[in-house]
Amino acid sequence: MPQTAEREGRARPAVAIIGAGPAGLMAAEALAGKGFAVTVFDAMPSPARKFLMAGRGGLNITHSEPLDRFLTRYGEAAPVVGPWIERFTPADLRDWVHGLGIETFVGSSGRVFPVGLKASPLLRAWLRRLDGLGVTLKTRHRWTGWNADGALTFDTPDGVQLVAADATLLALGGASWPRLGSDGGWATLLAAKGVELAPFRAANAGFDVAWSPSFIERAEGQPLKRIALSFARQTSRGEAVVTRTGLEGGALYALGAPLREAIACDGQAVLTLDLKPDLDLRAVTARLAKAPPSESLKNRLRKALGLEGVIPALLREGAAPADLATPAALGARLKALPITLTAIRDLDRAISTAGGIRLTELDEHLMLRRLPGVFAMGEMLDWEAPTGGYLLQACFSGALAAAAGVANFLG
Ligand SMILES: Cc1cc2nc3c(=O)[nH]c(=O)nc-3n(C[C@H](O)[C@H](O)[C@H](O)COP(=O)(O)OP(=O)(O)OC[C@H]3O[C@@H](n4cnc5c(N)ncnc54)[C@H](O)[C@@H]3O)c2cc1C
Repeated sequence: MPQTAEREGRARPAVAIIGAGPAGLMAAEALAGKGFAVTVFDAMPSPARKFLMAGRGGLNITHSEPLDRFLTRYGEAAPVVGPWIERFTPADLRDWVHGLGIETFVGSSGRVFPVGLKASPLLRAWLRRLDGLGVTLKTRHRWTGWNADGALTFDTPDGVQLVAADATLLALGGASWPRLGSDGGWATLLAAKGVELAPFRAANAGFDVAWSPSFIERAEGQPLKRIALSFARQTSRGEAVVTRTGLEGGALYALGAPLREAIACDGQAVLTLDLKPDLDLRAVTARLAKAPPSESLKNRLRKALGLEGVIPALLREGAAPADLATPAALGARLKALPITLTAIRDLDRAISTAGGIRLTELDEHLMLRRLPGVFAMGEMLDWEAPTGGYLLQACFSGALAAAAGVANFLG
C-alpha cells in the first residue's frame, strides 16, 4: 500500500528524493528546512559514494575565480546553469561548508577545498544535520519507475515497495563509475515516459595517444607541469600526466568537450602542447641558441629552460632529426608540440558524464515538462563542466533551484 502524507494523516506534503548524492542531499536539506516530510532513497547500502570517492584525490568543492568567468565553464549550458549558481554562489557554498564546522582554503590554482581535503568529515556532519531536520534516508532502495497508479516503485531487500509522494526529485547522477551507484539505469525509465535524453559520453576523462613502447617505458606516470594545451582556438594551462595509453589531467579536461566531439567527427584530434608557456618562441629560441650544441638535448633543455624529467623524451617522440637539429626548430617544437589524440577513455572511469536529460525537457523550476510533480537535478542533466569544483557547485546550486521549484509546486 503506498504511503502518502494524506494516508498517514500528516499535514506535511511528502517529498521523495531519489539519489543520495550531493544533489539529492542538498535538496533534502532545503526541503526539510522548509517543513516538508522528506525521504531520500538510494540503491546503494550507504549514501554519497561518488562524493566520498571525489574526496580521495582532494575534494575540490568549488572555485574562487570571479563569477562571470566561473559561469563560462558550463559552455552551451551556461544560460540554464548560470541562474542556479547566481542564486547559490561559490561564496555561498563555502559558507555552507563552514556552517558544517569545516574550514575551506583556496589552492594555488584558485580551486577551493575543505581543510583536510576529504569528503568524509563533511558528509558525516551533513548527515547529522539532515537527521536533525527529520530527513529519512532509505538505502538499498533501487528505483524502478512508476506503477499503473503513479506510485514510485523500488526494489528493496524486502521486495518491491510502493511510495506515493506529493513531489519527486530525481538526483540519480550520471553513468560513470557505476560501481559507486550512478549507473545511468534511470535513462530507460525516463525515455519510456518520452523524456528526451542526450547520449551519455565520458567527460573529464583521459585520451588515448599511440605512444611508442620505449616512450611509455620511460614516461608512464610522469607529470607535465606548468604547460599550456591548445585546441580549436582554446587554451588551457595547468598539468597533465602521461599514461600508458595516452594523457590525462586537468589541463586536458578543460578542452575535453571540443576534443571529444572532434574525435567523434574526424577519428582524431591534434592537440598543441606548449612546454614553456611563460616564454615566447623568440625567447625560447634565444636561450636554446646560447646552450653549447655539443651538450646533450637533456642538458641543453635543463640549463637553458629548466625543463627536465620526461620532456626530452617527449620532444624526441615521433620527431624527425630536423625537428631537433637547430635552436629554432627545437624551440618551435617545444612551443607547439603536436599530439594526436585518437579516443576518449571509457565512461566507466570518467570523472563525470556528458549527456542525460536534455535541458529543454525542464521548466524554469527544473520540473520535467512531461511529468508534472517530478523534478530532476545534478549530473543526470545534460550539462558538463571541467574539473575545478564546477561539477559539485552546479550539483549543489541546481539542487537548491529544484528544491525551490518543489516548494513552489506544493504551494
Ligand atoms: C574520482 C572522482 C573524482 C571527482 N572529483 C570531483 C571534485 O574534486 N570536484 C567536483 O566538483 N566533482 C568531482 N567529481 C564529480 C562529482 O563527484 C559528481 O559530479 C557528483 O557526485 C554528482 O552528484 P549527483 O548528486 O548529481 O550524483 P551522484 O553523486 O552520482 O549520486 C547519484 C546517486 O543516485 C543513486 N542512484 C542511481 N540510480 C539509482 C536508482 N535507480 N535508484 C536509487 N538510487 C540510485 C546512486 O547510488 C548515487 O548515490 C568527481 C567524480 C569522480 C568519479
